[in-house]
Amino acid sequence: MKFRRLNLFGPLLVAASLCAAAPLHASDRNITDKELSDTSNTADWLAYGRTHYEQRFSPVNDINVSNISKLKPAWYKPLPEENSLTSTPLVVDGIYYFTGNMNRVHALSATTGKTLWIFDPKVGEKIREKKQRRVFWIYSRGLATYGDKIFLATWDGRLIGINRKTGKQVWETRALPKNSALQLTMAPKVGGGKILIGNGGTEAGPTRGWVAAYDAETGREDWRWYIVPGDPRLGFEDPSQEAAAKTWSGKWWEHGGGGNAWHGFTYDPDLDQFIFGTGNGSPWNRKVRSPSEDGKGWGDNLYLSSVVALDAQTGAYKWSVQQAPGETWDYNSNMDITLADLKIDGKNRKVALHAPKNGFFYVIDRATGKVISAEKFAKANWSSKFDLKTQRHVVPDSSFFYDGEENIYPSVFGAHSWHSQSFNPQTGLMYIPTQNLSTTFADKGLKTDSSWRNKAWTLGIAVGVTMKAIPGVPKGSLTAYDPIKQKIAWKVDHDFYWGGGTLSTGGNLVFQSEPTGKLKAYDARNGKKVWEYDTGLGLTSAPITYKVGGKQYVAVLVGPGGAFSSNAFGSGELGFDLWGWKYGVHERRLIAFALDGTAKVPAQKAPAFAKPVVDKNFKIDDDKAAKGAGVYALDFCLLCHGGGAVSGVKAPDLRESEAFMSGNLDTLREIVVKGALTERGMPIFPHLSDDDLKNLRHYIRKQARDGAKNNASH
Ligand code: CA
Repeated sequence: MKFRRLNLFGPLLVAASLCAAAPLHASDRNITDKELSDTSNTADWLAYGRTHYEQRFSPVNDINVSNISKLKPAWYKPLPEENSLTSTPLVVDGIYYFTGNMNRVHALSATTGKTLWIFDPKVGEKIREKKQRRVFWIYSRGLATYGDKIFLATWDGRLIGINRKTGKQVWETRALPKNSALQLTMAPKVGGGKILIGNGGTEAGPTRGWVAAYDAETGREDWRWYIVPGDPRLGFEDPSQEAAAKTWSGKWWEHGGGGNAWHGFTYDPDLDQFIFGTGNGSPWNRKVRSPSEDGKGWGDNLYLSSVVALDAQTGAYKWSVQQAPGETWDYNSNMDITLADLKIDGKNRKVALHAPKNGFFYVIDRATGKVISAEKFAKANWSSKFDLKTQRHVVPDSSFFYDGEENIYPSVFGAHSWHSQSFNPQTGLMYIPTQNLSTTFADKGLKTDSSWRNKAWTLGIAVGVTMKAIPGVPKGSLTAYDPIKQKIAWKVDHDFYWGGGTLSTGGNLVFQSEPTGKLKAYDARNGKKVWEYDTGLGLTSAPITYKVGGKQYVAVLVGPGGAFSSNAFGSGELGFDLWGWKYGVHERRLIAFALDGTAKVPAQKAPAFAKPVVDKNFKIDDDKAAKGAGVYALDFCLLCHGGGAVSGVKAPDLRESEAFMSGNLDTLREIVVKGALTERGMPIFPHLSDDDLKNLRHYIRKQARDGAKNNASH
């Protein structure tokens, strides 16, 4: 309540910051819900999606369709210590804040790039101390600000309040137990005096997914709500849990059920509620997770793959929309949720707009949770349609692969992932980075005894995850969707899968980052390309815009990041090695553009490719290599170092690594078992034996030999 009273001063402070010259120090302005809801503020970027409404739209139109040819780099900053860049920054009173590798928070001038402070939560140290095995995520997607603080969720499970002016830690709360296999990767969402976060990591071990709200002033946990019900014999936390338990069977609580909340958090200031998306089941396959006597699996398994609204003050359940009943396909609903006021059939409606993995675009009445429309924005065969009368998807039996293998689309990566969508209230269109792939599912011969439960990959399917193109469909698109007409307005097709985040502006522009290294701008009304700039290195983060000292800037973090940048599911067309983005070669940067900008940005190094080394002193044993391949997959090596040991850009290519050449195991043991490189994001695997390491070496040497052969044949 304290913050609400301070609202009175908010507009005055904004006015002051606009009149003064760009400040060289951070302000101690008290940021309120009123300021976070102010869509007319063009100076700042105060929340993950700019305002509480998460539209990623700024009404500023200084840079527009007619003058964008004059948009050039105004300043740039090298970020040599960074690797994966995924975050959306904040801009407050001329200071730009972003999270880099190992959750380090950087504060710098938004007009020159000069560093003011860096906050290091020492994630690598914590992980080594506690021998925590955490994989895959060395970064987070962003920050939140409220009052005089900035909030950071760390990879190793802490929520931290930082003074925005000084960069000093004010409080720290442990949100995940120290030995947990889960992680936090989200930008925390703040509103109504609370900070909302949830867990990620369903695939890494048994999980009962949750969201929790913390007091923004003290970091104390206020309430917690579980995404799946617990063991009924212990009683239920609230009626929503009791209702959910009626949609499950078997002993789901023994493996938790899943249902992460790793992204897609929204605070609705009009109704004082949090709206968020929930994750997939654990394991993915309902037949294993919630078994039935006929072996077909049973129940909707609430609240997996849903959009849920909770009262922000109490955490009381308000409504939910399940987007994949009986979730089996890794269709989590953790994608951005955008809030808007739309006139639909002559009536003003407060809506939530959502384009989750499953390929349907949902327009949801955010007061009641009723789905107003849900039509396909991408190719999808898992559901025939969403029936508005029953408010349920019509899912054909084939989607559950009762009769063997089935090719299902969208793939486990979804038609849209966390890559930022943006909504322009002037064009009425949502701009969605879309990707088109299918996944083949099968579960014949799957062992469903308890042995699978402690495995790293708790997927509950028999074969690996095979990704395939959908015939006749482009790999990816920038899709402009009209939520009122319920159809695609225009589409720009891409010759790649992993389109980066988008930004929309009042200048009739929509910007998109590309893995090719290009930042492009389109006319928001028709998709005509009006501008591009080649940064020389793949992009994933969404650009943002802000206005300081009377000048509009568009800024983007340069460097690929996220799950797709690892080549986990294959190299070539699926991977980031395609463009020659190689670990450790290219400089990560922040580039800010303005009209008539004059900064000279040095060229990046040329694209580079791995050169697998054949070690003539090493005799490869095929049996050991096969065992090593098992370790490589089940202990998650591939999630950073790439499928088949072909690295994307996220981690070194092990086929070139000294540690895997012939010789003693000391170096390998130091790195893999003892955690010598945790500060660089290499996890710790204390359970691996010398035999495991030897087998891994046989596998890597074999992949290097085969890779070198392939290179020679080109
Ligand atoms: Ca998942």
